[in-house]
Amino acid sequence: MIYLDHAAATPVAPKVKEAMEPYFTDDFFNPSAAYLPAKKVASEYEAAKATIAHAIGAKASDLIITAGATEANNLAFTSVNKNGAILYLETEHDSVRAVAKNLGGKPIKVLPNGLIDLNDLKSKITDQTELISVALANNELGTVQPLAEIASIIRETKLNRMKRGVKTQLLLHSDASQALNLLDISVARLGVDLLTINSAKIYGPKGVGALYVSHDAKLHPLVAGGGQEKGLRSGTENVPGVIGFAKATELAKGHLNGNRKKYTTWRKILLAELKDYELINRKHSLDNFIVLCYNGIDAERLVFLLEEKDIFVATGAACAASKGVRSHVLKAIGLTDEQIAGSLRITLGETNTEEQIHKAADIINETIKNEYKRIKALSH
Ligand code: PLP
Repeated sequence: MIYLDHAAATPVAPKVKEAMEPYFTDDFFNPSAAYLPAKKVASEYEAAKATIAHAIGAKASDLIITAGATEANNLAFTSVNKNGAILYLETEHDSVRAVAKNLGGKPIKVLPNGLIDLNDLKSKITDQTELISVALANNELGTVQPLAEIASIIRETKLNRMKRGVKTQLLLHSDASQALNLLDISVARLGVDLLTINSAKIYGPKGVGALYVSHDAKLHPLVAGGGQEKGLRSGTENVPGVIGFAKATELAKGHLNGNRKKYTTWRKILLAELKDYELINRKHSLDNFIVLCYNGIDAERLVFLLEEKDIFVATGAACAASKGVRSHVLKAIGLTDEQIAGSLRITLGETNTEEQIHKAADIINETIKNEYKRIKALSH
């Protein structure tokens, strides 16, 4: 198998699985219990949170552990007091888009290269705006957004509001689900108030994520209960999950530069060896993302044909593809319906080797050649 869909899911790394195992059986205790073995688990859980927090330049007490990025994104939006006080990038993942829309949020446009249109952002900020949500890296294109620039616009807006006595909060939220193992992230450098991270995309277990929360952001719980995670995420702690997430962040930090170099080389190899494509994500993208368009080809059919040859790729976001809807992201950057229908997303990862990259290029080329032949024969 040649798996080229690491943006959709990553396998749990063997070292992560090994770190988690004791917490399913021997160290199964509820961290809230009063006896010593439970207290030991509680302190190991806190240490794991500190490791995760350290990976983004934060402290354990700044993190709320959630059951994945969807929940973390939803939790971030509880910081908003009034309907209509949200701006979100139009290319956001559905777990941001859906909530933002429900709360009367307005979309910010992207440019044809996938980057935020800063002029559109500036023109849409009003004295009522409380939260701006822009993903650090997009999950369909890999586009890395200039968060520090956005943070600086926010700072200027806040100063201006202060001078005029406007007291409305203005927070910056970013979904960094795709970026934690590909970029060196620091919440201070990015200037974010809220940051979503996701274990499932960095070779950790699924169903575990976290929201970084700065002192300025006041959240409300989505579920009521026993008061864990500062009352913001009640429910017995997912100890094995968090231990696994911590191990995955530690490994990701160690592999960051090596992986980035490797993916850059493999991306170059693929772009040189593949034929007849148009490159969609030319610049400003994570190193492991390659989005191509084959004009006139039905990419969904291509995905099935490649699966028969043991190559796994995506047409766009895995969830958008399964619902059979056209990608809102590819639409937002101005692709035609035909281009969208012919778009393929390849995301490289730790399961790959250079040999696989050459092999995948050969098989994709051959499949495309046969598809064009078949289409030509049909039109005669
Ligand atoms: N945000 C982004 C950018 C993602 O890529 C994903 C996963 O596909 C999510 C949020 C949702 O993550 P989860 O399904 O782990 O809640």
